[in-house]
Amino acid sequence: MKKYLSFLLGLILILSLTGCSSLTENATTGVSTEQQVTNKIITKETPQQKKNTTSVNTDIKAVNDTLKVSYINVGQADSILIQQGSSSMLIDAGNNSDSETVKNYISNQGITKLDFVVGTHPHEDHIGGLDYIINSLQIGKVYMPKRTATTKTFTDVVNAIKNKGLKITVPVPRQSFKLGEATCTILAPNGSGYEDVNNESIVIKVTFGSNSFLFTGDAEDVSEKEMLSKGYNLKADVLKVGHHGSYSSTTQEFLNKVNPKYAVISVGKNNSYDHPHKENIDRLKTKNIPVYRTDECGTIIVTSNGKNISFNVKPGSYSYSGTGSTTSKSNTSSNNVVNKLPIKTNTTCNENNKTVYYTPSGKSFHYDKNCSTLKRSKTILNGTQETAIGLGHADPCNICAGGN
Ligand SMILES: [Zn+2]
Ligand SMILES: [Zn+2]
Repeated sequence: MKKYLSFLLGLILILSLTGCSSLTENATTGVSTEQQVTNKIITKETPQQKKNTTSVNTDIKAVNDTLKVSYINVGQADSILIQQGSSSMLIDAGNNSDSETVKNYISNQGITKLDFVVGTHPHEDHIGGLDYIINSLQIGKVYMPKRTATTKTFTDVVNAIKNKGLKITVPVPRQSFKLGEATCTILAPNGSGYEDVNNESIVIKVTFGSNSFLFTGDAEDVSEKEMLSKGYNLKADVLKVGHHGSYSSTTQEFLNKVNPKYAVISVGKNNSYDHPHKENIDRLKTKNIPVYRTDECGTIIVTSNGKNISFNVKPGSYSYSGTGSTTSKSNTSSNNVVNKLPIKTNTTCNENNKTVYYTPSGKSFHYDKNCSTLKRSKTILNGTQETAIGLGHADPCNICAGGN
C-alpha cells in the first residue's frame, strides 16, 4: 500500500514537472528586421492545472521577490519602467524634453543597464527621450515596430541605436521573452502600414506569478480588434489605457476581454488633445475600474508580489477634458469649445504632494519623521513623495507609510 502511494505521488510530481517545462523554456531570441522567421513559440500563458488532489505544490507560477512598474510622470507622453530582480525594461521614454526626467528616474533606481528598451511607435511623445536613454545607459535589446518616420526625433533614435552597435528588433506577436521571473508576451502590432501610426504600437503583456499587466502604447480600435480576433489571452489586472485615454482606444469589447482591476492613464494636465476623453472615462467608470492617472497622481508605482498588487497612490478621478467622438464626427454645428470641460482641481490621489522623510542612502520613504526605522540616521531629508520617489527613495516604509 505504501509503495503504491509513493508511486502515485511520484507520478503526480512528474506530471506537474512536465507541466512546468512548457512554461520555463518559452523565451526566444529576437527576430531581426530583415528575417521575419516565425519561430514556433510556446506562449501558453497559464496552463491552469485543474485539480490539486494532493498537497504537492503544483503552483507553477510561484515567484519570489517583486515586480515593480513605474508609470513615470512625463506629462502628455508615455514612459514606463518595469523592474524584476536585477532585470529591467523601459517602454517609451517620453517627449524629447523628458529625456533628463526619465534618465534620472532610471538612474535613481540604481539601474545602469536596461535589458530591454521598447519604442512602441515613432511618435515623439513615446520615443522622444529614447536617443538620450540609449546614449546614457547600457542597453540590451531594442524593440520597435517596422514603421519608420521622417522626423528628426526618429532619425535621432535610429542613429543612437546604430552608433551604439545595436540593432532594432521587430517583435512578432505571440513571441515571448523573460524579464527576470516575469514573462513578456508580444500581442501587437499584428500588421503594418496602418493609416494611423498609433495602431502600429507594440503591445506587451507582462505576467508575474498570477498578476498581469497590459501595456498598449497608443493602440486604438483597429489594433484592439485585431488582438481580439487573434484570440489572445488579453486578461490583465492592470491596463495601461491606450492613447492617453482617447475615445478611439479602450473599446468596450476590448475592455471586457482585458477586464482589468485597475486602469492607468498617462496623460498631461490641460493637454491640447483634451485627453482623457469622456467616452473612454465613461467605459471605465461604468465598470467601476479605479483609474490612476499621471495628470492627477504624478508618477504611479505599482508593485506586485505575484499574488497581490499595490499602488503608491490612491486612484484619481473620473473627470475628463473633452469628448472625442462628437468633435471628430462633426455632426453638430456647435464647435468643440462646448465639449471641453474643465478638469476638477481637487483630486483624490494627492499622496504624491505629501511631505515624506528619507535618508540620503535609504530606499524607503516615511510619513512619520519619528518613525523608529529613522532613529539611527543622522541626516533626515524631506520633500514631496513624488520627489522622494524620483530620487530613488521609492519604497513606502512598512511601519509608517503602508508598505509591505
Ligand atoms: Zn502618445
Ligand atoms: Zn501616438
